[in-house]
Amino acid sequence: TRTPVNVTVTGAAGQIGYALLFRIASGQLLGADVPVRLRLLEIPQAVKAAEGTAMELDDCAFPLLSGIDITDDAKTAFDGVSVALLVGARPRSKGMERGDLLEANGGIFKPQGEAINAGAADDVRVLVVGNPANTNALIAQRHAPDVPAERFTAMTRLDHNRALSQLAKKLGVPVTGIRKMTIWGNHSATQYPDLFRAEVNGRVAAEAVNDQRWLEDDFIPTVAKRGAAIIEARGASSAASAANAAIDHVYDWVNGTAEGDWVSMAVPSDGSYGVPEGLISSFPVTVEDGKYSIVQGLEIDEFSRARIDASVAELVEERDAVQALGLI
Ligand code: NDP
Repeated sequence: TRTPVNVTVTGAAGQIGYALLFRIASGQLLGADVPVRLRLLEIPQAVKAAEGTAMELDDCAFPLLSGIDITDDAKTAFDGVSVALLVGARPRSKGMERGDLLEANGGIFKPQGEAINAGAADDVRVLVVGNPANTNALIAQRHAPDVPAERFTAMTRLDHNRALSQLAKKLGVPVTGIRKMTIWGNHSATQYPDLFRAEVNGRVAAEAVNDQRWLEDDFIPTVAKRGAAIIEARGASSAASAANAAIDHVYDWVNGTAEGDWVSMAVPSDGSYGVPEGLISSFPVTVEDGKYSIVQGLEIDEFSRARIDASVAELVEERDAVQALGLI
C-alpha cells in the first residue's frame, strides 16, 4: 500500500471547499489508487463548520481517505504537504478599496507562503484559487524562497473549461474535438481566451468560427464574465465548476497532459511571450513526468498580442501595488 499524500485545503468550510473535498477524498485529484490525508485550514470562527464537513467526509467511508486534520494554524496545516489548494481568501466587499483588498490578502498569503516554506514536502505543488489568485500566488511564492518558484501556480482552468464549452456550443462539436485552448494573462475580466491557437478537429478555431464579431463581442466577454452570470442566475457563486477546475489543474499537473494538447495554468513567467519574468500569468502548458513547461514558439497575431499585453499590464499593476504595500 502507498503512503497517503498530504493534501491541504484552505477555506475548507467555504462553498468551493464543500464542492472540492469530496472529490479529493474519492480519488479524483491524484488518481484512483492514491490514498490521501486531508488537512483543512480555516479561520477560527469557521473551524466548527469545517468539522461538520469532516463528519460528512467520514460518513462517505471513502476507501482512499486515510485521515482528516482540522486546524486554524498555517504551520500545522502545511507541515508535510504535497498538494496545497489555497482556496480561502478575503472576498471583495462593496466599497472596499483595492489596496485594502490586497492588504487583507497579503495578511493571508504571506503567512501561508512562510508556512509552506517551513514545512512543505519536497514535492509540494501549490494551486491558488482564492482571488485575486495570480497576485495571491505571487505573494505566497515570494515568502517561500526555499521552494522552487515554479511550484506556485494560480487557477485559470475554469476560464479554460468555460472557453472550451462556449466554443463547442458555437460550432456544434463535442468538447473533445477541441485542442490547444489557451487562457492568457490574469484570472480577471482582462483575461484573453485565445481561439487563434486553438484547434477544432485540426483546424484553427478562429477560422472554423469565421466570425470575428462573435469572437470579440460574445465569446471573450462571455468567458470572462461567466462568474457574474452564474451568480445572477443561481444566486450563488460558481463553486462546483471552480472546484472541478481545481481538480483538473492538479490532476493534469501530476499525471500529465494529453499528446498533442495543452492546458492553461497561471505560472511564474520565464519571460516567454514578453511576459515579465516572475509574474504569475496564464500560459499554455504541457506536463510531462510531473513537470510543466510553457509551450514555446507560438506565433502571436496582432489582435492577440494587444489582448495579452493588456492583461499582463494589469498583473504588473497588481504586483506593483503589493510591492508598494510591502507585501512582497
Ligand atoms: P468560496 O469558497 O466561494 O470562494 C473562495 C475563493 O475562491 C474566493 O476568493 C473566490 O473569489 C475564489 N474563486 C475563484 N474562482 C471562483 C469561482 N469560479 N467561483 C467562486 N469563487 C471563486 O468562498 P466562501 O466565502 O464560501 O468560503 C471562503 C472560506 O475561506 C470561508 O470559509 C472562510 O472562513 C475561509 N477563509 C480561510 C482562510 C484561511 O484558511 N486562512 C482565510 C480567509 C478565508 P471571489 O472573492 O472573487 O469570489
